[in-house]
Amino acid sequence: MEKIRRIGFNLAPTSTIKVYLLTALGTLVCIAIAMAIDSYSFEAGWALEERWANNIIIPIVLAPPFFYLLLSKQRQLSLAHRDLLAIASTDSLTNCLNRRAFSTLVEAYLQRFEDDPARADGSLLILDVDHFKAVNDRFGHDIGDEALKLIADVIKANVRDLDLVARLGGEEFGVFLPGLDPGRTQTIAERIRSAVQAASFAPVGERHPLSISIGGVTFSPPVTFPELYRDADKRLYAAKHAGRNRVDIVGHSAWHQQRAAGAA
Ligand code: GH3
Ligand code: MG
Ligand code: MG
Repeated sequence: MEKIRRIGFNLAPTSTIKVYLLTALGTLVCIAIAMAIDSYSFEAGWALEERWANNIIIPIVLAPPFFYLLLSKQRQLSLAHRDLLAIASTDSLTNCLNRRAFSTLVEAYLQRFEDDPARADGSLLILDVDHFKAVNDRFGHDIGDEALKLIADVIKANVRDLDLVARLGGEEFGVFLPGLDPGRTQTIAERIRSAVQAASFAPVGERHPLSISIGGVTFSPPVTFPELYRDADKRLYAAKHAGRNRVDIVGHSAWHQQRAAGAA
């Protein structure tokens, strides 16, 4: 959510302190304008008017209620907008980003550094729970939901604050790791995989093992989110095919070679 807000620049007041400060500022500006208009004459230039106190009293009476009402309304709208943004960008079950917010943020990142590929390396991981249908079949859908929440928490606990974690749909998650080289990406992916395997999921007293398969791709722009997703998804498929509970990441050079071979 905070990551979504960072994309835009919002001047709207979100606290009552800001409302008071902006009201005071607006009133001072009104006083300054009133005095300036009143003290200027086209013939004589600038000269302070004799009844200058009027130019303070009238704005002080009229401006504060006007600015306070206007800014309070704007604050309410701004808070409502923030809540709506949070609802629209969050997966309600796991509290991760949803697919749309995730792809928007990844695209924004890729575009921002399009002309500066050296600074924009990173990786995209796609994580899919292994044999999740069996969890639902054995314990029911509600317990299946609990397993998804647990896995989301484990993923979030094993990445940095600046990384993006999303539920892309069903029992599939996405992790975007800006600025990570292939070696560190492999380490993080392995750490997440083994943390899920070690997680304690015991819905009916007895521990039920969970595991995930991870497909990933490291990149440098120019590249788009759908291209990254397609490559990572292929590696996820390979990880599933190779027996599940494993990580399969295409490194920089291998990935570029594969793309070049695909294009040829
Ligand atoms: P694989 O190892 O090949 O990924 O096997 P799988 O069983 O995980 O994959 P499959 O695609 O066969 O089944 C996914 C299951 O995930 C089926 C679906 O009911 C379940 N599922 C999808 N979304 C949710 C959800 O929000 N909550 C719960 N409890 N289950 C879900
Ligand atoms: Mg699955
Ligand atoms: Mg799946």
